[in-house]
Amino acid sequence: MNNDTLPLRLPADYHMHTTLCKHAEGTPQEFKQAALKHGIREMCFTDHCPEPSGYDSKHRMSLDEIPAYYDLVRSLQDEAQPAIFLGIEADFFPGCESFLGPFLPAQPFDLVLGSVHYIKDWGFDNPDYRKTWESVDLKGVWKEYFNLLKALVDTRLFDVIGHFDLPKKFGHRLRDAAMKELVQPVLDHVSKSGMGIEINTSGWRREVGEAYPSPLILSLACERAIPITFGSDAHAPKEVGCDFGKALQLAKEAGYRDSLQFRARTGTRIPLP
Ligand code: ZN
Ligand code: FE
Ligand code: FE
Ligand code: ZN
Repeated sequence: MNNDTLPLRLPADYHMHTTLCKHAEGTPQEFKQAALKHGIREMCFTDHCPEPSGYDSKHRMSLDEIPAYYDLVRSLQDEAQPAIFLGIEADFFPGCESFLGPFLPAQPFDLVLGSVHYIKDWGFDNPDYRKTWESVDLKGVWKEYFNLLKALVDTRLFDVIGHFDLPKKFGHRLRDAAMKELVQPVLDHVSKSGMGIEINTSGWRREVGEAYPSPLILSLACERAIPITFGSDAHAPKEVGCDFGKALQLAKEAGYRDSLQFRARTGTRIPLP
């Protein structure tokens, strides 16, 4: 390899899935090879967490598949780069504490992402239900979503909030002034909790055409010293590390100088590459 083809130094990729969630493709080995190809030196699998209540069972492993998930991830933890960590993406919804409360702290996770994918029974980021967007009050939806994020923070069950402004996925954005008014109290809440948020590059692959969160939200988060991680939300090998160069630049433009490295649910600030 000559100098021209040496990969850039990129942040760790802390958000990716396996076929256990029923809507991903490729082997974990292929995910690892893809990360290596991009020059990513550390990655964490964060597949969708089981939910024995039956909540959204089409998009997650069952509880009895958890040992298989751990085996899959651990089988990649060898001498070869990149380093592999074990995490989970758990859904927050009212009542999730009854299972997640005892479950999450008892697991050997390095990182727990907390995500909101539903407002009541509406999977607002699911293309199958996007028609609902035509009949809702936009600002009302964002208010409800942010109230759920605040409640997510209050559970203290999660380390990092996944795709912070996910409702914009299909392009349903608020104007900057309205967003600022709604999001600042939420960010104050996150800041007091010590939680992080992720720069999730999958937004660049969606209709909205920008990462989660937006540059506006990211700079407001930086003002509040809310730490960040980076995640591709890869559901296929080719998505691992996707747009990480752009994400790094976005973080720097928002004012960030460091991101969190996670080990056993503890985040440590390390300088950005
Ligand atoms: Zn998924
Ligand atoms: Fe998610
Ligand atoms: Fe995800
Ligand atoms: Zn996700």
